[in-house]
Amino acid sequence: MADLTAFQSWVAAAAAAVTDQAEHLTDLDRAIGDGDHGTNMARGFGRCAELAGEEQFTGIEAYLKKVGMTLVSTVGGAAGPLYGTFFLRLAAPLGATTDAGPLELAQALRAGAEGVVARGKAEVGDKTMYDALAPAVATFDEATRAGRSLADCLQAAADAAAQGRDATEPLVARKGRASYLGERSAGHVDPGASSAALILQAAADTLA
Ligand code: ADP
Ligand code: MG
Repeated sequence: MADLTAFQSWVAAAAAAVTDQAEHLTDLDRAIGDGDHGTNMARGFGRCAELAGEEQFTGIEAYLKKVGMTLVSTVGGAAGPLYGTFFLRLAAPLGATTDAGPLELAQALRAGAEGVVARGKAEVGDKTMYDALAPAVATFDEATRAGRSLADCLQAAADAAAQGRDATEPLVARKGRASYLGERSAGHVDPGASSAALILQAAADTLA
């Protein structure tokens, strides 16, 4: 079960991961974008990681909403509003709970990924963060229905996100800045799919 402290640990772990990998994310974005994804993510998640020490949150929903709003206002680029929406939408299904289990998290992750689609209109195969998020959500659902533990569901989702990330390499981008490159976007892993995989691995490391 994941309580408020666990969600705060997730955000801290996500911040540490994107900060550690900032140069890699920026290199990926330099190849098919404008080379700011690592700095954007490290700045935004770094700011989010400070929230827990600054404010007493009444619950998981209030905390995740603040994280979402903070991401919108600090990450910038295309990814800021998309990750912001992901965390804002994640919050709502967790409103009534102080300890989220697999079923509640499945609902929340699905809502988060749907928020990314509502905002960015990406489909699987467009070479975006959604290529990591969509298989993660589907795999989490499957693992939940199979009655697996929260830890197992989260690790299965993180593994699926990593596979989805790797699968973006040969694709031609159809959304975002990378799509301006057309065929030349093929042969590179998508930066947003890479950061999404890091965020999901951080969840697997902390939420259960
Ligand atoms: P920008 O492209 O504005 O510089 P970032 O570099 O921070 O923004 O983020 C780029 C990432 O955002 C891409 O790698 C991709 O995964 C994601 N992205 C861009 N557009 C979309 C979209 N419409 N839907 C989903 N993800 C998107
Ligand atoms: Mg960029």
